[in-house]
Amino acid sequence: MTRAYNFNAGPTALPEEVLKRAEKEWLNYNGTGMNVMEMSHRSKPYEEINHQAQNLLRKLLNISNDYEILFLQGGASLQFAMMPMNLLEEGKKGYYVLSGSWSEKALKEAQKIGDAESVASGKDNNYTTIPDIKDLSSLENGSYLHITSNNTIYGTQWHETPKNLSIPLVADMSSDILCRPIDVNSYGLIYAGAQKNLGPSGVTVVIIKKDLLARSKDSLPSMLDYRTHANNQSLYNTPPTLAVYLLKLVLEWADSLGGAEALEKINQQKAELLYHEIDQSNGFYNGHANKNSRSLMNVTFTLNSKELTDAFLAEAKELGFTGLNGHRSVGGCRASIYNAVPLEHVEKLAQFMKEFRTR
Ligand SMILES: *Cc1c(COP(=O)(O)O)cnc(C)c1O
Repeated sequence: MTRAYNFNAGPTALPEEVLKRAEKEWLNYNGTGMNVMEMSHRSKPYEEINHQAQNLLRKLLNISNDYEILFLQGGASLQFAMMPMNLLEEGKKGYYVLSGSWSEKALKEAQKIGDAESVASGKDNNYTTIPDIKDLSSLENGSYLHITSNNTIYGTQWHETPKNLSIPLVADMSSDILCRPIDVNSYGLIYAGAQKNLGPSGVTVVIIKKDLLARSKDSLPSMLDYRTHANNQSLYNTPPTLAVYLLKLVLEWADSLGGAEALEKINQQKAELLYHEIDQSNGFYNGHANKNSRSLMNVTFTLNSKELTDAFLAEAKELGFTGLNGHRSVGGCRASIYNAVPLEHVEKLAQFMKEFRTR
């Protein structure tokens, strides 16, 4: 049985090494005689897994001690509401840059919590570029500025984040966390569901600057208050133990490759293979994203007719490629090439794209 050429948008491919390691430890984790799923989250072995996962993430993203790392549940979608519940201050605004469907959803949730508005939007050009914020000084009285660092559905990505902000920058990094080095110090809060670049679904990573924890109010339900999780090493209630364990294995794998710098190089190589094929196809394949906003993680493109698109997807499927359909809201094709997608699989796809076009 060979592994699928997995280009799913999420959940998606995990590193084969990680799956093999999990298989090896499946019945007997580290001499415990148990699967990680079977042990108490208060046991020493599990506390170690939890601790190691936090430490590895701290190392890989160079996160200083000014930040707490939390492992939560509810996905990025819960963070759309939980973040403003904690950070949006009375009489101030949450500012949002709209760069795709996920940022629209984040704004909509924040508006249920308090005062929030869009300060830049790429909607008029069908989210082909990351929009510019015209006047940064107008943000002064806000509680935070929210961006979506990678737009999974449209295939665009921020390549330079707003600088010299007077308010905390909050980023939804669900689909590009750890695809490249970042300067965590320029953010107040980062959140990401794990199921694209970090592991399986079920665990959501939140990286929050400690001083921002002072904004949370005692009236918040305990589970929705960041302080609860920060004060309990994310062990306040039963965590998603299997997901955190697999997250730890993925982080060990990333570390063994050379960390964020090494991953960025491979990711650039992978993305370049597909963008190159799009660019030299003379319009046979049309990239959705403008060149300066192209994503390293999600390559979106269309073919010139529905018949061609259908033929392309059907043949691809036949050859063992999965997940190449564009998101149901935009159509076309999308190849998600997250960290765990091997270079050889992307080479195979680029080769197929070329052969299909030539024919
Ligand atoms: C997938 C995704 C989400 C939604 O994540 P859930 O874990 O399903 O809630 C949010 N934001 C971005 C950028 C995503 O790619």
